[in-house]
Amino acid sequence: GTAARLVEQHTAIIEDFPKAGITFRDLTPVFADGAALRAVTDALVAPFAGRIDAVAGVEARGFLLAASAAYAMGLGVLVIRKPGKLPREVISESYDLEYGSTSLEVQPSDFPPGTRILLLDDVLATGGTLAASSRLMERAGWVVAGVSVVLELEELDGRANLEGRDIRSISVV
Ligand code: IMP
Repeated sequence: GTAARLVEQHTAIIEDFPKAGITFRDLTPVFADGAALRAVTDALVAPFAGRIDAVAGVEARGFLLAASAAYAMGLGVLVIRKPGKLPREVISESYDLEYGSTSLEVQPSDFPPGTRILLLDDVLATGGTLAASSRLMERAGWVVAGVSVVLELEELDGRANLEGRDIRSISVV
C-alpha cells in the first residue's frame, strides 16, 4: 500500500552501523516527512481499530509512533521505559542483548487490568525487545491486542520470539 511505498522510499540504509557487517535501516527520514508519518501511523493502527483501549511504545523511537497513533485514535499511551526512569512502583523484565542484557519497565497502576493495548515499535529485528515488552504488559495484567511495526527484518526471524501474537509490519525486508 501507500504506507509501505513511503517507508521504502524514505528509509536510509547505512552499511557497517553500529559496527562492521551490520546493515542499519534508519527510519528518521520517514518520521521527518509529514505525509509518510501520517500514512505510517494510520497503517500501524488500522488492523486494530475498534479493538484496543490504549497504545504502547518502547523507549525511545516507539514513543513517537505511540503518541502519533494514540492521538489519531483518541486513546492514551503506555510508556515502556528503560530502567530507572519511572518514579512510581514498577515491574521490570530482563532480556538478552547480543552482549549482556538489559531490562524494560512499566508502572502497573497506569492502566487497569484487562486493558487491551497495541504494542508499537519502529523495527522488528530479533524480537527480543517486543517479546520482553509483551511479557511485561501481561505481567501488569493487560492484554496484548497485537504488535505493529514499521519495518520487519525477516532474516532475524523475530516472529519466532513472538509466537502466538498478532504481528503486523508495514514493510518487510
Ligand atoms: P530486537 O533485536 O528486535 O530486540 O531489536 C532491538 C532494538 O533495536 C529495537 O528497538 C529495534 O527497533 C532496534 N533495531 C534493530 N535493528 C535496527 C535497524 O536496522 N534500524 C533501526 N532500529 C533497529
